[in-house]
Amino acid sequence: MAKGLRRNRNVKIVATLGPSSSTEDMVSRLFEEGVDVFRLNLSHGLQDEIKKRHEIIRKVENKFRRPICILADLQGPKLRCGDFKGKQAELVAGQTFVFDKEKTLGNYKRVYLPEFEVFKSLKKDSKVLVNDGKIKLVVKEVNENFVSTEVLVGGIISDKKGINVPDQILPLSALSKKDLSDLEFVCSLGIEWLGLSFVQRAKDIKEAKKIVRGRAAILSKIEKPSAVDAFNEILEETDAVMIARGDLGVELPIETLPPIQKRLVRQCRDSGKPVIVATQMMESMINSPVPTRAEVSDVAQAIYEGADAVMLSAESAVGNYPIEAVRTMNSIATEVEKEKTYRQLIESSRTPLKGDVSDAITVAAREVAETTNVKVICCFTETGTTASLTSRERPKVPIIALTPKITIARRLTLNWGLHCIVTEELERFKMAVVNAAKAARMYGFANNDDKIIVIAGVPFNVSGTTNILRVAPADEKKIFEGEST
Ligand code: PGA
Ligand code: MN
Repeated sequence: MAKGLRRNRNVKIVATLGPSSSTEDMVSRLFEEGVDVFRLNLSHGLQDEIKKRHEIIRKVENKFRRPICILADLQGPKLRCGDFKGKQAELVAGQTFVFDKEKTLGNYKRVYLPEFEVFKSLKKDSKVLVNDGKIKLVVKEVNENFVSTEVLVGGIISDKKGINVPDQILPLSALSKKDLSDLEFVCSLGIEWLGLSFVQRAKDIKEAKKIVRGRAAILSKIEKPSAVDAFNEILEETDAVMIARGDLGVELPIETLPPIQKRLVRQCRDSGKPVIVATQMMESMINSPVPTRAEVSDVAQAIYEGADAVMLSAESAVGNYPIEAVRTMNSIATEVEKEKTYRQLIESSRTPLKGDVSDAITVAAREVAETTNVKVICCFTETGTTASLTSRERPKVPIIALTPKITIARRLTLNWGLHCIVTEELERFKMAVVNAAKAARMYGFANNDDKIIVIAGVPFNVSGTTNILRVAPADEKKIFEGEST
């Protein structure tokens, strides 16, 4: 039997597509090198470019006959200033700079702010950051017509620069007009995950869910201090999380990122919801075929923490070495995961179980795998819950997730350790065992003489009830030996 394509690691790789990586040949090679999830960034790229990339990914999926996951990432409510006379102006420390409602071109004293109605909810002493935090301002006066600031750290401000206001929850909806249009567009193309940028509170996710209506699962990007503060409620509401270190590092002191990353990864693992560590993981590879030692360590660190996925942004979207960046991430993951320290760290950070039957069955599967020499855990999953719970256990053997639904197979591709397969609709558990055994051998997870674990919820078409665990031979001819069938 020809062996199907599989990964030899648990952590997943997310890669952003962009001008450097959007031909069919590139997407195909990136997938072969190790990309599990492709990210379409709606902050850049017009809708027809996004559509083309989407088509190419589905084509590549067909070619390799493996589910490939698509994450569409909305731009979110990012504030931007208006334009300047001569395109830019220099702000000098100690001087006053004003944001107002006048649509005329700006200069070193003032600029137009399109979202002024929102901006005027700022308070005296609020910080305002411009151009990825390079320019720092502090609010001195707010009234109906302008917000006046003092320049703390100066620099060049230019047309439509991004503006961050870290210590204030703004009365902005999580979805701008552009986001709503992009959302309908990507949902009509068909995507598995929808990324929400600049989530501020759990309510933002509830609102988005009402509009998405189950057409995609929701991934909340944590890139605001308010989102870090409200993380417990956000985690309740969302389906997955991205630790978006880019904007988070602008809005918070940069040294607070590692502890926040550790804490959030830990909480996501507890909840069984996938978490992506993102931004600047291999930043130097935009221009260099090899990463820095510090970058290699950063990727390794996220893997040791037990994150579900690590992500490439500019490296794969606009960099000169997208293939090398994926290959490097893949090698780091393979190397880290075969080390004993890795298992020790993963096991020592294991999370307490919640106490329902589904949890107990997945814990049992992991324990059987630890104490015997079964080769793989195969889980049948209708909505993805059984597979996510199994992934949450971070078992030492590989996990195969079998589902009749292609959307679920693709979506679960983001979760740690899951090798996803689309299977036929099943009625009887015995057929599930036969299918699991075939899949385990086909993808090289087990040989004829090995044993596998099969878990499922029976009856099959009722969701949310994992209730069976069986240890079975990987050779389906032996499955029914001694049984009266
Ligand atoms: P972005 O999000 O790349 O869409 O800005 C990630 C981040 O801010 O880290
Ligand atoms: Mn961001």
